[in-house]
Amino acid sequence: MFSIINLTNGFATHASRVRTLVAIGCAIAALGGAEAQTVGWPMHGGNANDARHSELTSIDAGNVGRLGLAWSFEDFVVRGRTHRGMQATPLVVDGLMYVTGPWSVIYALDARTGKLLWQHDPQVPGGWARKACCDVVNRGVAVAEGKVFSATLDGYLIALDARDGRLLWREDTLIDRKRAYTITGAPRLTDKLVVIGNGGGELGVRGYVSAYERDTGELAWRFFTVPGQGPDEHPEVGVARATWSRDSRFEFGLGGTVWDSMTFDPESRLLYVGVGNGSPWPAWVRSPGGGDNLYLSSILALDADSGRLKWHYQTTPADSWDYTATQNMILADLRLGAGVRKVIMQAPKNGFFYVLDRRTGELLSAQPYTDVTWATRVDPVTGRPQLDASARYEHGQAIVAPSIAGGHNWQPMAFSPRTGLAYIPVLTEHMTFVPWRDGYRPDTISVEARVADPAKTGDQDLLLESRWSAPQSVLVAWDPARAKSIWHGPVRPWWGGGVLSTANVIVQGGSDGLLMVHDATNGRVLKTIAVGTAISAAPITYAIDGVQYIAVVAGLGGSIKTFPWGSAALEHENSERLLVFRLDGGPLRLPPRVTPKVRRAPLDHSNIDAAKAARGSQLFLDHCGRCHAPNGIPNNYPDLWNLPAAAYAAFETIVLRGALEHAGMPRFDDVLSPADVADIRDFIIRDDALSRGTR
Ligand code: CA
Repeated sequence: MFSIINLTNGFATHASRVRTLVAIGCAIAALGGAEAQTVGWPMHGGNANDARHSELTSIDAGNVGRLGLAWSFEDFVVRGRTHRGMQATPLVVDGLMYVTGPWSVIYALDARTGKLLWQHDPQVPGGWARKACCDVVNRGVAVAEGKVFSATLDGYLIALDARDGRLLWREDTLIDRKRAYTITGAPRLTDKLVVIGNGGGELGVRGYVSAYERDTGELAWRFFTVPGQGPDEHPEVGVARATWSRDSRFEFGLGGTVWDSMTFDPESRLLYVGVGNGSPWPAWVRSPGGGDNLYLSSILALDADSGRLKWHYQTTPADSWDYTATQNMILADLRLGAGVRKVIMQAPKNGFFYVLDRRTGELLSAQPYTDVTWATRVDPVTGRPQLDASARYEHGQAIVAPSIAGGHNWQPMAFSPRTGLAYIPVLTEHMTFVPWRDGYRPDTISVEARVADPAKTGDQDLLLESRWSAPQSVLVAWDPARAKSIWHGPVRPWWGGGVLSTANVIVQGGSDGLLMVHDATNGRVLKTIAVGTAISAAPITYAIDGVQYIAVVAGLGGSIKTFPWGSAALEHENSERLLVFRLDGGPLRLPPRVTPKVRRAPLDHSNIDAAKAARGSQLFLDHCGRCHAPNGIPNNYPDLWNLPAAAYAAFETIVLRGALEHAGMPRFDDVLSPADVADIRDFIIRDDALSRGTR
């Protein structure tokens, strides 16, 4: 179990270390008093260290009780009636806020008032939603030299004039537009270039990262993270190839997508890149002859100018559990033992918190920050995890923690140089992995995996050993110098929110629709604001003319397929919102309450053949179930079990001919026949009628 340390002793220890840290100049641009200051949030992680910490002090533990709404913006582009996930980190530069919403739309607002100054809709084809594992979300933009750089779901990198949103250039970043490539991540900047990766590791693509000239959009370099079917594009691909078996399934792309985190260190001029999971997930399918499968689940340090690899560290060799190393990375100078080390820190999905020397990649520490069963430890000498045999699932099911959601996902953690602590939005969940059954198809999710259910699998003992009852989310304060947890916040519903550190407080939302402010030293909850909308994204902070603001986007979606127990989306309509707070702000309007669903009468199913419905059930799982939940379980997408009869008659027009494509319902006529669609429809109508008595 976690224990909360003696706060008096703990604080004294931290205070002395903080003084040291500040003395050596590690503290992030100390800004002093915020009065009459105008301070932006110019980079994705707030500053060059990507620490998501601000030294603004107008809002602190002493006055945060006065926090209220300054302004909100809710006029996000919604296609059809389907709300989508909100994941962006807003940037604030020169008094303007640049934020993104679903469908890669960019909004520029007056950061003091919320007035919309311009918006740019890149008109992403609605059918591209089918290529997205995890919704048509977007995590934000980069801003430099009067340009806003953003990437679109359908793979374009664009540059806009920051003043008026005028399109300056647009580049296609995809190497194969037939594959399921998407971009949901924010571009990042080196001192000269703009860099972007992509997603698709669940759906059969080959990962890479590309750097472009900021003025022209010309490609400067490209680094492939896994070997391909053709000749090696650069020497590192050859090095990687030696860690894959000859019979690897190159036709499936092999994964390794760079879908979120990258950070540039101006001092070493290295660009750190977080690499995702393999495609498909099971290593024995992907690379039947074994091997570590570089550079999956790795942190890469690339020369920022040339894209050449300086070092790499693989967090999960031969990963089979979707343990991406794409989670956010933070740079810091840490006192470790007798000396101060320049480190990079990451809490990837695999459950270990890594501290590496950021110049060499040397492992300095790796300890579990949540329940971990797949490995017993990370060997400090070799840097390799020692696998636990219980996590293998080639020949039978295995219950593994963390789950495919990870101990920590894209919701960013923060690091405060004041306390020397990292603040991790931790996810706790065990998951049952079951062995491969069908042949792999690039347009379906890679492997069956499900949440461990003690009632069905007899896993009570395992769940009872959990630090928290699963699945939940919890904020953990982690001391990277001592490689241990210091405190944790209250246990909250599944799928927590990203974290902001400012002055001596920690700000985090959650799917419960609560924005919580904690004391950074001991986790005490100082203020809770009910916003009525689930918050997954991380808050930011900025100041204009001495007034400090805290901003966060809200709206549940992304990889969440059904609204979790305890989430605000079960109570209030899950619309997209941007909420900005300040001291002595006003009250907040909650979204309308969810209207109770009226079930229509069951439709006649007497002529529906059971065998055809069973076939329809499998087709539904393969092609529809990534978005639509079965049987009226609440989520963002239309309830196919409760459609008016006329809508079923229109199924073929919708599913095969794209009648609702603009709204994000793609056409499937390349993989489904009219007979397939009829079977899916019949399965739904029959299942709806037969299940009436069971609910
Ligand atoms: Ca993944």
